[in-house]
Amino acid sequence: SKPIVAIVGRPNVGKSTLFNQIGKRRVSIVDDMPGVTRDRIYMDAEWLNHTFTMIDTGGIEFDESDQILRSMRQQAKIAMEEADVIVFVVDGRVGLTSADEEVGHMLRSAKKPVVLAINKIDSPQLEANIYEFYNLGLGDPIGISASNALGLGDLLDAVVESF
Ligand code: GDP
Ligand code: MG
Repeated sequence: SKPIVAIVGRPNVGKSTLFNQIGKRRVSIVDDMPGVTRDRIYMDAEWLNHTFTMIDTGGIEFDESDQILRSMRQQAKIAMEEADVIVFVVDGRVGLTSADEEVGHMLRSAKKPVVLAINKIDSPQLEANIYEFYNLGLGDPIGISASNALGLGDLLDAVVESF
């Protein structure tokens, strides 16, 4: 079956925007996963003749959704269990946060490839913002602008190379 790519990251970093930019069509709502109440969590996508299924883990609602950090740990756990490749999205305008560091720590222990996407790099002047994310120890950060569809080719190249 198709490889699964999970998108994880804090609220408001742009996970859903990225998901909708690279997704082609809705696959299904998986209702046997506890807490999944929203639509558009799974979607098929295609890049360079690779078809894969994306999960927007930010669309999964957890019981403890009042606690951002706990929800993020749950997202990361699902991604580490279900995904073939994890796309970790951070906000290049806000910069590196302690929640990013905590999730980064979890993802480093995963035996799954992680692609690190630094979102909201909308213009070349913002490209210098990506460098602090080397501190996550997850390899080369890839600057993208999900809302402007910039850098998505480089990101998807890194994803399909990890299959
Ligand atoms: P999520 O909570 O991680 O799913 O984030 P969303 O996709 O809902 O986006 C949160 C906010 O960030 C929205 O207002 C988006 O329009 C904005 N956003 C998403 N991608 C970008 C981007 O590349 N650049 C900028 N400047 N804003 C973005
Ligand atoms: Mg979202």
